[in-house]
Amino acid sequence: MNAFQIKWLLLSLLVSSVIGGFDLPSKHDRSYYEQTGDVVWDVPMKEKLIALTFDDGPNPIATPLILELLKTYHAKGTFFVVGYRLDKYPDLVKREIRESHEVANHTNLHTYFKKNTSKQAVRAEIQSLSSKFEDHNIQESPWFRPPGGYYNDIVVQVAKELGYHVVLWSWHQDTKDWSKPGVDKIIAKVLDNARNGDIVLMHDHVGGSMQTVEALKKILPELQRRGFKMVTVSELVSHGIME
Ligand SMILES: [Zn+2]
Repeated sequence: MNAFQIKWLLLSLLVSSVIGGFDLPSKHDRSYYEQTGDVVWDVPMKEKLIALTFDDGPNPIATPLILELLKTYHAKGTFFVVGYRLDKYPDLVKREIRESHEVANHTNLHTYFKKNTSKQAVRAEIQSLSSKFEDHNIQESPWFRPPGGYYNDIVVQVAKELGYHVVLWSWHQDTKDWSKPGVDKIIAKVLDNARNGDIVLMHDHVGGSMQTVEALKKILPELQRRGFKMVTVSELVSHGIME
């Protein structure tokens, strides 16, 4: 980088910080937050445990089918629920709890915390879902997954203040099922990369798509055949701590 480029870079940094004002969130990287333990991506361990996570639900068609499949293969999952969908289908979330799965916070309106995120906005989005869980007598787990995985220092800090841990997913287990990539691609993503301590990202609400459900019909028996146990995020994390 020459002197001119450095000057330009400094100038653009200055401009963006002025435009962004005081609320422009900065972001530490993965290694920083893995050291502080405030954000979880995966939990390396010797045991053959994997956490399947399902975001954006509940969905009246896909969620019950996923619950049936999990039951068939003695698997537990973690459902990152959004508030506006809980409003419509609270009984499905209650069923998730009743069947010993984990229910966790994915904001009220599925808000992306990008630039200009304020503490107040993050707090309101987490808390309004939290109070809905309370109204329905649904026990939520202490996990928070910011929509789209958009985290920054403010998101992590507010989550922490409210008693949550931020949980993302294993980078090699992002199925992108929300984009309807095809059943075989979802299956291959999970099975080609499955390692101990993985957190797999899937969605039980993808408008009009049954790809995740179809993929699970192959993924669950194969993981079971390889000796993996599918557990909640809480169980996965607790095994990581014990090692
Ligand atoms: Zn989401």
